[in-house]
Amino acid sequence: SVPPDAPSPGPSADRPAGPSIPFRLEANINSLADLDAVDPASIDGIGLVRTEFLFLSAAEALSEERHVESYRRILARVPGRPVRLRLLDLGGDKALPGLVEGGPGSLLGERGIRFLLAHPDLARLQARAILRVAAEGEVGVLLPMVTLPQEVAAVARLFEEEAVALARLGVPVRCPPLGIMVEVPATALTLDLFADAAFFSVGTNDLMQYLSAAARDNPAVAPLNAGSETALFRLLAQISAAARSLGKPVAICGDLAGDPEAVARLVALGFGDFSVAPSRLSALRALACPPVPVEG
Ligand code: PEP
Ligand code: MG
Repeated sequence: SVPPDAPSPGPSADRPAGPSIPFRLEANINSLADLDAVDPASIDGIGLVRTEFLFLSAAEALSEERHVESYRRILARVPGRPVRLRLLDLGGDKALPGLVEGGPGSLLGERGIRFLLAHPDLARLQARAILRVAAEGEVGVLLPMVTLPQEVAAVARLFEEEAVALARLGVPVRCPPLGIMVEVPATALTLDLFADAAFFSVGTNDLMQYLSAAARDNPAVAPLNAGSETALFRLLAQISAAARSLGKPVAICGDLAGDPEAVARLVALGFGDFSVAPSRLSALRALACPPVPVEG
């Protein structure tokens, strides 16, 4: 049931009547085409941009201007609302021919932030593009596949260095808040060690596959993932409690957030921010309060 101090849903002509659970609803964006699939008036922001899917070739991914252009288009779609740009989550199941190949063992290998820290030129290029657009809108940065606090510190240093270099050239920049994906079990169990992260976003797709040791892209073991729901929810309860004691915002941006039944359980665990695929927005909107009004 809705707590007594919950914001009451405002009138909305196109919103179905029914019980309303208070939470923020955001969109996951995988491509610029996804932007068109989203009614900006219906979302509180963009909770996850999978930047690794925005670029169709290595040449595009290696163009700072191309990054800036894409991010500007995304920001322009939801003016005044937060946009979380995730650093390139390459490796694992995500290949970009000419830059990163997938391969056996890659799900446990040099993927996400591990790959970027091993390829600092690419990380710095993306950091520069983000620093530039962060001066123009409400940008947060999500670090994928974080395992240790040192990885967050290394990325923060890299952003600071690039910010100083750009500012010296007279380029307007802003250092955006750095948050982390919670999708490695070691991270989920030690959230208290990540007090330097500005916010958390739980990647239930990866968290689930690493909990059950069943690859997310292998249908033969899919029942093991589905069957490990109890383990996942126990860990999610811990994550919610740990984030609350740190006083940090925590969202869920994995596929679980797009399942209305799961969302009712997640709200009961204290989660209040869900970022979902455009195709899941209407099902979730039917449960949620209206978008938080934009200020200003
Ligand atoms: C996840 O792992 O749940 C997630 C949101 O990231 P991706 O699906 O892109 O790995
Ligand atoms: Mg993931």
